[in-house]
Amino acid sequence: MKLGGLKSDEYMAVSPQGLMPALIIQKEHESGMKHLSESDTIARFLLAEYSGVGPSFQPDNPRSNQICRWHDVYLTTIQGCLYKPASRFPLGDYADRKSAIAAFKKNLKVIEGFMSDEGMYLCNNEVSLADAALFPTCIFANYMLPKFDDSEPPLPLKLNAWFDNLRKNDAVFSKIYDEIMGTLVTSWEEKNHRWDSIWLAGQRDLAPGTIFDKIIAKEIPASIVKEDDHILAFKDINPVAPAHILVIPKDRNGLTQIRKASAEHTDILGRLLVAAGEIANDSDLGFGDGARIVINDGNDGGQEVYHIHVHVLGGRKLGAMG
Ligand code: AMP
Repeated sequence: MKLGGLKSDEYMAVSPQGLMPALIIQKEHESGMKHLSESDTIARFLLAEYSGVGPSFQPDNPRSNQICRWHDVYLTTIQGCLYKPASRFPLGDYADRKSAIAAFKKNLKVIEGFMSDEGMYLCNNEVSLADAALFPTCIFANYMLPKFDDSEPPLPLKLNAWFDNLRKNDAVFSKIYDEIMGTLVTSWEEKNHRWDSIWLAGQRDLAPGTIFDKIIAKEIPASIVKEDDHILAFKDINPVAPAHILVIPKDRNGLTQIRKASAEHTDILGRLLVAAGEIANDSDLGFGDGARIVINDGNDGGQEVYHIHVHVLGGRKLGAMG
């Protein structure tokens, strides 16, 4: 706050990504460093500077490093799926919130596999940087993940037992839990619904299913011309041109119609159009020199099926629009 906010020039000079935390080193340090950013760097600095005070946090156990590294490289880099606006996507390798959340959960499970089997902490009975790194992440994940999917517990079983135990039985971790939850829940959620306003956290696709869901599930037949993990393309049952293909997303993700589009749908809309272009190039499907790509929306647009779809029309010279 003193430096003028996270994106101020003054703060960026201290922490070039404009992220928390940052540490300004008050007294002159032999390294010549005047400030540090990134929690792991700061934690290691403080542990070295105050090595005589309290536990070492660096047990003679590679588990701690393994968990810290996995946390920082594979979990932290995509944890924005729990809170970032979609306009800030893609996250790492993940184009949308759903796939990033699935990867986030998978990595929690991987980290669980690194835990020791005994003791209160991730490395047996000795508190380590692993606990310090993972605990705050788990506080947030434990709070946010059920908003997206409450059909299973947010944290995997063994990790959850560790989390619960620290939360209830270790005074320092209890304090951290109360501080983070206090800020997140009371100040952010209750004041402005910060987290519930995120697509799929508080907002849901409540529109009924359509006939296209049955086609995707292969419950009713369709003349499928193209299919991958994300899209399906098939011949329109009632063609209005010699070549008439529909392209649909397998998961409409709330996109019943184009007027519902938001940044959450950038990836799927791109995929629909790329597929439409490929289809329009396919002379085996009856396309010649060009095509018309159409999305009908709502009543005025003549939309019948409320699952976003792209019509690819061609096979003859088409008349004027409208
Ligand atoms: P729209 O008017 O843009 O909602 O387009 C819906 C399209 O879906 C229409 O052109 C229909 O002919 C087509 N359609 C509806 N049911 C089927 C089906 N079972 N198989 C193939 N196309 C279908």
